[in-house]
Amino acid sequence: MDLKSFTQASRAFTDQAKGPKMFKEFDATELYCPRCKRAVPVRKRLLLILPEGDKYEYICSFCAESIGMKIDRHERPITLIA
Ligand SMILES: [Zn+2]
Repeated sequence: MDLKSFTQASRAFTDQAKGPKMFKEFDATELYCPRCKRAVPVRKRLLLILPEGDKYEYICSFCAESIGMKIDRHERPITLIA
């Protein structure tokens, strides 16, 4: 890769990073519900505690349909036992 294309690539990356943070911190309070056919307030329910994080389910607060999942990854680095 020559210097020119490297510069373009890094600029594109920077532009993307400045955009709306859609999935970086995906703590949605409203999601689209296919049953209600509209964006609805959701309830967050803890499903599972996994080694890599806590798995949550988003539930429509009107019809109780499950409309999303999220894994809240633990920010702490895993401490290795020597
Ligand atoms: Zn619904």
